[in-house]
Amino acid sequence: MSETADPTSPSASFSRLLQGSGDASSRAIQKDNVRLLLVDDKPELLKSLFELVSIHGYIADQALGGQAALEALACNDYDVVLLDLIMPGVSGHDILEYAASQQLASKIVVVSGDASFSGVKHALHCGAFDFVKKPYEADALIATMETALKQCQLEERNSHVEAQLKESEELHRFIVNSSPDLVYMLDRDGCFTFLNDRLESLLGYRKDELLGRHYSELVDDDHLELARNIFNERRTGERAATNTELRLKSRLQRSGGRFLHAQSVWMEVTAKGIYQDNGERSRDTFSGTYGTARDISERKEAEQVINFQAYHDLLTHLPNRALLKDRLSMAITHARRNQRKLGVMFLDLDRFKIVNDTLGHTMGDRLLKAVAKRLQSCLRRGDTLSRFGGDEFTLLLPEVRSRDDVKMIASKILDRLNAPFILDGHELFVGASIGVALYPEAGETEEMLIQNADIAMYHVKGRGKNGFEFFSEEMNHQFTTRLAMERELRNALVQEQLCVHYQPQVDIRDGRIVGVEALVRWQHPTRGLVAPSDFLPVAEETGLIVQIDEYVQRRAFQDVQGWRNAGLGDVYLSVNLSATQLEQERCVANFTESLQQSGLPAVAVKIEITENLLMEDLEVIVPKLKELRASGLQIAIDDFGTGYSSLSYLQQFPVDTLKIDRTFVADIRAKRGDVTITNAIVAMAKGLNLSLIAEGVENRTQLNHLRKLGCTVVQGFIFSGPIAADELASLLGHNPFPELLASAIKAAD
Ligand code: C2E
Ligand code: MG
Ligand code: MG
Repeated sequence: MSETADPTSPSASFSRLLQGSGDASSRAIQKDNVRLLLVDDKPELLKSLFELVSIHGYIADQALGGQAALEALACNDYDVVLLDLIMPGVSGHDILEYAASQQLASKIVVVSGDASFSGVKHALHCGAFDFVKKPYEADALIATMETALKQCQLEERNSHVEAQLKESEELHRFIVNSSPDLVYMLDRDGCFTFLNDRLESLLGYRKDELLGRHYSELVDDDHLELARNIFNERRTGERAATNTELRLKSRLQRSGGRFLHAQSVWMEVTAKGIYQDNGERSRDTFSGTYGTARDISERKEAEQVINFQAYHDLLTHLPNRALLKDRLSMAITHARRNQRKLGVMFLDLDRFKIVNDTLGHTMGDRLLKAVAKRLQSCLRRGDTLSRFGGDEFTLLLPEVRSRDDVKMIASKILDRLNAPFILDGHELFVGASIGVALYPEAGETEEMLIQNADIAMYHVKGRGKNGFEFFSEEMNHQFTTRLAMERELRNALVQEQLCVHYQPQVDIRDGRIVGVEALVRWQHPTRGLVAPSDFLPVAEETGLIVQIDEYVQRRAFQDVQGWRNAGLGDVYLSVNLSATQLEQERCVANFTESLQQSGLPAVAVKIEITENLLMEDLEVIVPKLKELRASGLQIAIDDFGTGYSSLSYLQQFPVDTLKIDRTFVADIRAKRGDVTITNAIVAMAKGLNLSLIAEGVENRTQLNHLRKLGCTVVQGFIFSGPIAADELASLLGHNPFPELLASAIKAAD
């Protein structure tokens, strides 16, 4: 663009301005400010000239001859000089030449008797403003002089305005170029006619590269339509200068911003149409556009980060619950319209918590990322995998033809997840429980589908994990019952409805009560005493078992220490520990703290761990058992014989006691020799130098058989079932078991 088309340039309007003030002749002359010089070599003529101008109210300097005139002109600025031409020495022509050479602004009116054509021509050629012939008519002379004066004042005013405009133009140019925004101007065809200095630092182009080019060369391809909208003609009213967010192509390499396109910059663009002569806004009068563009990439990036965070899980970058729900609701609409099925899978990792608790959160996070990656490799186009937090993932399968489709995907996922994850040299096995809800049979809204997939997943967990199941109404019923139970159980903990019963463990050589096992009971307000098998599974699933176990242990430590203090004998205490409690990070610390508070010595406590639990989480549980044992506690394997522990494992475990499961004891019947398992377990315990307890001993046959095998400690209904603390205290005071034992042995003999 030429500099004159610059919107900041005043040139165009300047000429108008001059025109506007063109009727200067009508203006009155300010006579006091007028500076006049009268030049003549004849004193009388000079005098009469002076008198003439004086009569008209002017003050004038007089120069008698050319030399005096030169001196006066050298010292003063005159508006008008009335000059005689023919003078001896320095002539009027010399004065005219001098004035031209010095570029004097004075208007020179020649007053001369030499009215020859050449004289006049020469005078005008030398820059004389006008010519008045001598002898002059007074009015004509004054009129000519005043015309010269007006012209002079007009020129002065104009040069003043010009100076002001120049200053203003410089100011505007400075403001435009130092603006933090890009300032542009387009012609009616959309080509750049002006760009300010910001162009280079904002977008990396030189001005000459873009001037004359169409704006579309600068607009990101995706935004061309939008750009057309704002740069076209006929913007009126509200649309006259709207702010529009556009992406412009940039040559600058931008750092950071994974959400931004490296080659484009977000700009907020204003555009205002220019219409000729303030004419009506029409295609014909449209002559271009001007406006600004502001870099808003930082704000845009912040918005995009916030947007991403609102809809994604930041660890795995998978969609979060909100985004999944969005997509699910769209998929439901689609499936309904096309009478199709769709599937929602709820997936929970089986052993994530253990990894997180034992190897730390960093490792847990890495495992989750690795799991997310594997899961993604099982997806088809259009499927959405999302993380709901923790170790829960949800998978939306919008295109499902049959159950078999989903079965295949679920099996594939399980297969992939069953392969170990190797992280930092750790070989981690996770496995997953997957619940599936199909639209429309398992629900018609997103909430129902997600909830029912969740219920089906819980069902898989309850059945031993690592598998998948489709939701069914039956599950729903079980689920609601379980929910009610969970609520009640939480309440039971607060209201202290749980109590501890104790079952004696008896030395069958003399009938002494050597220990007691603490067993939890629920004193339910309407259902009476509830057995642990009725509520512990729910407690396990919900994690409430930890609070229950800790409560039972605290109570039992106090009770047993209380009996010791009361001189009722130094019985030891057996307590059951759940897998969930053992998996707690602070399990050992909490246990020993609670024990210390009660005053009961560690050697008086035996921890019972079921054999199955032991086999499940070897690498997590063994170190904890070692720690517990190191603090003086004893460890017993509960329900021994029902699990799969091999002899080699047994040797590694930090174990003191085996508790023969009552199913084997129940197998001991009169006149049947088929008790090989019990016999084998007793022999094994002896061989490994472990102590032995037989549980579930109900009759004399069992008692005597065990006695003959060399088993010394027995727990069972034959002596006593689990009883309340005060009953057990009185049993300790008056132990009837020696007599009971004696008669049993006698009967057997
Ligand atoms: P367990 O640890 O194997 O406890 C022995 C179970 O056998 C008790 O059942 C007891 O009442 C029962 N029993 C004892 N003698 C006989 C007998 O001669 N014949 C028969 N048929 N049964 C006998 P209970 O109290 O119903 O407890 C069931 C299981 O619940 C326990 O098995 C234990 O695994 C668990 N449990 C009980 N209390 C707690 C607790 O406070 N915490 C944890 N984690 N588990 C507990
Ligand atoms: Mg037990
Ligand atoms: Mg048992």
